[in-house]
Amino acid sequence: MSEDERFDVVIIGGGHNGTTIAAYLAKCGLSVCILEERPECGGAQENTEPIAGVRLSPHAIANYAGPSPGWEQLELWKYGFRMDLHARNPEYRGVPTGFMTGEGMYHVTEQDGLAWAKLLGFLGTPMFSTDLFRATFWCPPHPIDVELTPDNIPFMQVYKQHQPDVWTPELLQMTMFDLMDEYIEGEPFKACMAYVALVSGAHGHFEGQAIPALSCVGMVQPPYIPRPVGPRGNIHGYYHALLRCAIAHGATVRTCCPVEEIMINDGTAVGVRLKDTSPRGEKKIWARKAVISATDVRQTFQQFIGPSHMDAGFLQRIKDLSLKGGSLYVTHWLTKDQLRFRPAYASAMAGEGVFTGGPFIGGAGTRKEYFNHVADVLGWKGKPRVPAKEGLFLWVGNQNYDVTHPQCTRPGQYICGPFDTMVATPEYDPEGPDNLNKIKAEMDAYHLELASCVCENLDSNNIVSTFVNTPYDSEFRNTGLLGGSWYGVRPSRAEWWNQRPMPELARGRTPIDGLYLCHQSSTHPGGLALMACGYNLMHIMIEDGIAEPGQWWYPSPWYIPERGKKSAKRP
Ligand SMILES: Cc1cc2nc3c(=O)[nH]c(=O)nc-3n(C[C@H](O)[C@H](O)[C@H](O)COP(=O)(O)OP(=O)(O)OC[C@H]3O[C@@H](n4cnc5c(N)ncnc54)[C@H](O)[C@@H]3O)c2cc1C
Repeated sequence: MSEDERFDVVIIGGGHNGTTIAAYLAKCGLSVCILEERPECGGAQENTEPIAGVRLSPHAIANYAGPSPGWEQLELWKYGFRMDLHARNPEYRGVPTGFMTGEGMYHVTEQDGLAWAKLLGFLGTPMFSTDLFRATFWCPPHPIDVELTPDNIPFMQVYKQHQPDVWTPELLQMTMFDLMDEYIEGEPFKACMAYVALVSGAHGHFEGQAIPALSCVGMVQPPYIPRPVGPRGNIHGYYHALLRCAIAHGATVRTCCPVEEIMINDGTAVGVRLKDTSPRGEKKIWARKAVISATDVRQTFQQFIGPSHMDAGFLQRIKDLSLKGGSLYVTHWLTKDQLRFRPAYASAMAGEGVFTGGPFIGGAGTRKEYFNHVADVLGWKGKPRVPAKEGLFLWVGNQNYDVTHPQCTRPGQYICGPFDTMVATPEYDPEGPDNLNKIKAEMDAYHLELASCVCENLDSNNIVSTFVNTPYDSEFRNTGLLGGSWYGVRPSRAEWWNQRPMPELARGRTPIDGLYLCHQSSTHPGGLALMACGYNLMHIMIEDGIAEPGQWWYPSPWYIPERGKKSAKRP
């Protein structure tokens, strides 16, 4: 065993969350090694170029990171991060102007727009949305022995301080629909916002999720951010800055290194063993202080750790975890002509050939259509049964992209996407996990019909190529994506905050000493709220005496230290 194979911290998985915690810990002066199975890091924040001149992000695209303390603490601007702040639709100022429904454009009333902006803290003096979003996502769950009350739940504290006229303890029981019903009139407005929440993590119809669901939407809309896709080089460009930051602080990154086992000695994680297929000669990598699993929670406990180290009841609960959430069926069409939107949707265009995109709710655009869709995805879980004209989709218009990094540079050809619909997580599909792959042609026809509700020239004369990424494809592209779900999804209380993924694991610690969790499926808040899992885990690594950050560190103001541990607050 050479000294080279020993690090303070070994991190399994070089996706966004593993890399965030690597950057934080390396900045604390610890020696850190990331072990990534694939030839490239980035996990679900990747770009692909299926044919020359066509750059797609098959998974993550939108920047849900606006409020993250990580921008300041990790100083990503020093490592190549650049943000294009140009608002392509300058009229959109916190008060959305319109939504696409099956009956044409729904125009938001000024009163509803203002009510929405108020609920999100955009109208506060000062605007308190950063506090609200940070309290919701960038704060570790409270210790298990702390009883949660309306007075100590972080987002409740922010709401009480800044929005006392809206605050009520009942917010902890309300769905997003309940809250919107009190302040907003337009039904299509409410259904569309609930749909954006549904595809952004906290569903619009789950009890107790009113504020988290609201916050999911607020984080990716103006004026909070000028437009959803802001980073230069898109989300993979952002990931590159994160990885460069980790490397600049001394982290070692090894790709093509699939981990097979977490080595445990006397109940303590002491390192990992790589699979025999790993090209590296030395198969054991030792950890002096900690092993962090930044891969999915089931693989961590069911495969990396043998049953001899775990209680059978605990393992059964890991097996029983609900990871349903939802997955996206993602389509990009390469076309000869710019897409033209039907006259009824003209106001979804920001200018000649520039589609602002957004959610679409078919039929009359009401919660009836929303719930029919939810019943398909979370209830029936098979292929969509809702007819296309009553279907739902999210279309990211080409106006959202960085002009220096367009999706298509092929002369005379265009891409406008992704075009996403939410579908069931493959492993819960009653017809088998590969069901949607088997009926791809049918699904593609459904997507075309759905998109054609608003677009008039998406036909065989115009389409040059269709690029599809099913959730099952995602699972094969990215081993971290169990079931092709992004697990940003937090649909129920049982998948949220101090219950995620189970109460005793919620602060990132595990029953194995020295083993911590930092993955979208295993830590609060999961995906989308970028850098949050790593930032939240930092509090715990400080409590356990592993990390000692410099002056650059500040904890969440709502964090409650664990009794008997060192506090992550500054003395
Ligand atoms: C279709 C889709 C759309 C999305 N849209 C957005 C969006 O718009 N905005 C947004 O912010 N997020 C979005 N997300 C979610 C976002 O991509 C994820 O939340 C984020 O990538 C999660 O990072 P992670 O590090 O937790 O996991 P992952 O990205 O899954 O990383 C885990 C890493 O571990 C590696 N690994 C697995 N097993 C092993 C092993 N045995 N040994 C070594 N390495 C291993 C994997 O190869 C992978 O690189 C989307 C996801 C999907 C699927």
